Amino acid sequence: MKVDGGCHCGRITYEAEIDPAKVLICHCTDCQSLSGSAFRTVVRAPTKAFRLLSGEPKIYVKQAESGEKLAQAFCAECGSPIYGTYVGDDPKFYGIRVGTLLQRDALSPKIQIWCRSAQHWVGNLDTIRKVEQQA
Ligand SMILES: [Zn+2]
Ligand SMILES: [Zn+2]
Repeated sequence: MKVDGGCHCGRITYEAEIDPAKVLICHCTDCQSLSGSAFRTVVRAPTKAFRLLSGEPKIYVKQAESGEKLAQAFCAECGSPIYGTYVGDDPKFYGIRVGTLLQRDALSPKIQIWCRSAQHWVGNLDTIRKVEQQA
């Protein structure tokens, strides 16, 4: 599936070819702090299937629990996370942050990982009071 997206301020835009069956939710603590949210929704695209169209993301390198180094790409202007990838000569994929994709409404997650660190309430969203807009 061909997708395209960008950061909130519009400086960074990209396109990619992804498999909608590979959309996942990550509950790891790094995704929680780096996204500022309870979890992150990600879809992996092979490196050659990702193309930056405009802008240059800023890179923050974090150490994964496995010891590997992961580059976190984000917009230096508006702070939107764009993708994550392993640092090295031959990164295998870009973990695209699904919230930056224009087609995100069509991309439902298929698996949740790092559930051991999931916030205890995320499985019960339907029990939390809902309003259509700002409360
Ligand atoms: Zn931006
Ligand atoms: Zn994670």
